[in-house]
Amino acid sequence: MPRIALVTGGTRGIGAAISIALKNAGYNVATNYATRDDAAREFAKVTGISTYKWDISDPEACRQGVKMVSEELSGTIEILVNNAGITKDSAMHKMPPENWDAVVATNLNSCFYMSKAVIDAMRDKKFGRIINISSMNGQLGQFGQTNYSAAKAGIFGFTKALARETASRGITVNAIAPGYIATEMVKSIKEDVMKVILSGIPVGRLGEPEEVARAVVFLAADEAAFITGETLSINGGQYME
Ligand code: NDP
Repeated sequence: MPRIALVTGGTRGIGAAISIALKNAGYNVATNYATRDDAAREFAKVTGISTYKWDISDPEACRQGVKMVSEELSGTIEILVNNAGITKDSAMHKMPPENWDAVVATNLNSCFYMSKAVIDAMRDKKFGRIINISSMNGQLGQFGQTNYSAAKAGIFGFTKALARETASRGITVNAIAPGYIATEMVKSIKEDVMKVILSGIPVGRLGEPEEVARAVVFLAADEAAFITGETLSINGGQYME
């Protein structure tokens, strides 16, 4: 039986590439999304991957969503990719508290809600892979992104702590920190700002969603059992720890 993988925010952008790559690697894949029914329908039609709509910033919705996916795919979710994320940028002195709350809830709290929803079944199975999509801007800090940088930096601590808690149960927990990847999130950046961004990337271009997906497939593999609590940076050389 193929292992079941669930990708949050898996109908567009990096998540869509991750879902497709996992499917191509032989996993039984389900994806989640929040609002864009049109994109989800098109994604499902083209890929044959089932899509499930719920808001990952809502803990009860995460619990119900995971239950539904497990029932419909008849098994334990063994690979969880916490990918969905949003930005609501502005300098901190202008940032309304609701934009802080929304970004922290969607980008960080969701990792807790989703991991909590799958962890008992993974512990029982003595196997699991949790892969959290953070960001280079959580490593660097970015102007206009105190909310996003804080949430994405929080993922690193969450990843390491949970990795320690689950290691003896055959569950690995890792983070991926992409730099600038060509998705809608990044394509909305103004042209003059984009020029400056590109000049700071040694590889000289944006990354492709498939280049992040490749790393997820690597970390999801049974053979990746000895890699846990780690962050894999995928940023074209823009930030080297
Ligand atoms: P996109 O905006 O292209 O796609 C986001 C996906 O997340 C969509 O499927 C969206 O669903 C879903 N989503 C958003 N909010 C929620 C929610 N509350 N509940 C469920 N699903 C939700 O994003 P990217 O592909 O660019 O980014 C994916 C991840 O990678 C994010 O965590 C982002 O922070 C991170 N990242 C991206 C970088 C980049 O350069 N693009 C760089 C570094 C990190 P819907 O279609 O319904 O809106």
